[in-house]
Amino acid sequence: MISFSEKHNIVKQIAERIAKEKILPRAKEIDETGAFPWDIVEVFKRQGFLNLMLPEKFGGLDGDITSLCVVVEEIAKVSGACSLILLAHAVGIMPVMIAANDSQKEYVYSKIAHPEEIHIVAFCLTEPEAGSDASHMRTRLTKEGDYYYLNGKKCMITNGAVASIFTGFATLNPKLRTKGICAFFVEKDYPGVIIGKSEKKMGMIGTDLTEIIFDNVRLTKDNIIGDEGQGWDIAMSTLNLSRPAVGAQAVGIAQGALDFAAEYAWKRVQFGQKLADFEGIQFMIADMATHVEAARALVYDAAQLLDMKVYERDKMSAIGVDKLSAMAKMYSADVAMKVTTDAVQILGGYGYTKDYPVERMMRDAKATQIYEGTNQIQRIVIARDIFRKFIGT
Ligand SMILES: Cc1cc2nc3c(=O)[nH]c(=O)nc-3n(C[C@H](O)[C@H](O)[C@H](O)COP(=O)(O)OP(=O)(O)OC[C@H]3O[C@@H](n4cnc5c(N)ncnc54)[C@H](O)[C@@H]3O)c2cc1C
Repeated sequence: MISFSEKHNIVKQIAERIAKEKILPRAKEIDETGAFPWDIVEVFKRQGFLNLMLPEKFGGLDGDITSLCVVVEEIAKVSGACSLILLAHAVGIMPVMIAANDSQKEYVYSKIAHPEEIHIVAFCLTEPEAGSDASHMRTRLTKEGDYYYLNGKKCMITNGAVASIFTGFATLNPKLRTKGICAFFVEKDYPGVIIGKSEKKMGMIGTDLTEIIFDNVRLTKDNIIGDEGQGWDIAMSTLNLSRPAVGAQAVGIAQGALDFAAEYAWKRVQFGQKLADFEGIQFMIADMATHVEAARALVYDAAQLLDMKVYERDKMSAIGVDKLSAMAKMYSADVAMKVTTDAVQILGGYGYTKDYPVERMMRDAKATQIYEGTNQIQRIVIARDIFRKFIGT
């Protein structure tokens, strides 16, 4: 059994209550209309969920990954989309948390923690020609005197059109490959920051997925996070930190589908008996529940290791945890896909209709196999870690 600290139990209870009282009643409508749920973001703001990753003096929990996972899991049980808005915001903050200097942190954190204003953050890594192979990014930083000029296009950026702060990555010199990459932050109102086309998606409807174009955006040293050329390490450390939270999201989606399917099987009668009395259905439910528990164990194991602060600046590569973090994301996402598909099967034809939430959960689950590094890329990370010890033998 996963044992949570008192702090994590309190966070979990609050998230569970918010999910049931505020998000569950809106989940179907958000999926149907696709309108960005600002009302839910306001709830996140009031509850301090937008500040989760911030230091305590800004009302946060100091980058605690277990807390992020707990909150994301509870919300994902009722709405994958609402959990993604919060998750992508937290991921956007991570480069600042990992490598920004004190005055950059003070500036960005004060904005996010502003008592009245809502500031959402977006994480900009993917480009049209550089998805899985992100190190081949084309977005350029050009240095001229005291300024840097940013040019390029990012795509499939969650929260892109609703964010006011963007963390991202660009290269100073493509010939240097990963050693030429810099991390930066920009704000929406900088001249040259343009919100591009919005994607029409299969699932996670209600979240915003857009292109972000940088057209000669002028930056100063204050916008560069970490040292020049350190951006790749910052990006990889961010993904190591965020992958358990994607795993938690997948676990939440799967648990939501399992709970719904089990209750349906208990109530639905065919051949004169409950579906739950058929051994074939029992076996499906038992397998679904076992996979969800196994995924949850992997997620919180990785999260707790990360909370031992292995990601601090001097240990940025987090070697060792990257494998567990990738396993948590990959396994949970595959479980979410399988469990939601089986939940649709258990509901039969009704499961395939929009009258029931399991088809939405199945569409939402698919995204977890793709973002934050596809599940193929996670397998590469895991295998690379396993074979690392043989290098040179
Ligand atoms: C809903 C959603 C939200 C997203 N949010 C963000 C965001 O906020 N910020 C952001 O930066 N990005 C975001 N993304 C982008 C996402 O991270 C990329 O889609 C993902 O990294 C894959 O890149 P790609 O789409 O270019 O696919 P490609 O890299 O072109 O891959 C296509 C297929 O080939 C496989 N493949 C590629 N290389 C290999 C290999 N070496 N071995 C085996 N198989 C391989 C992939 O696994 C995949 O199945 C989001 C995507 C989605 C769908």
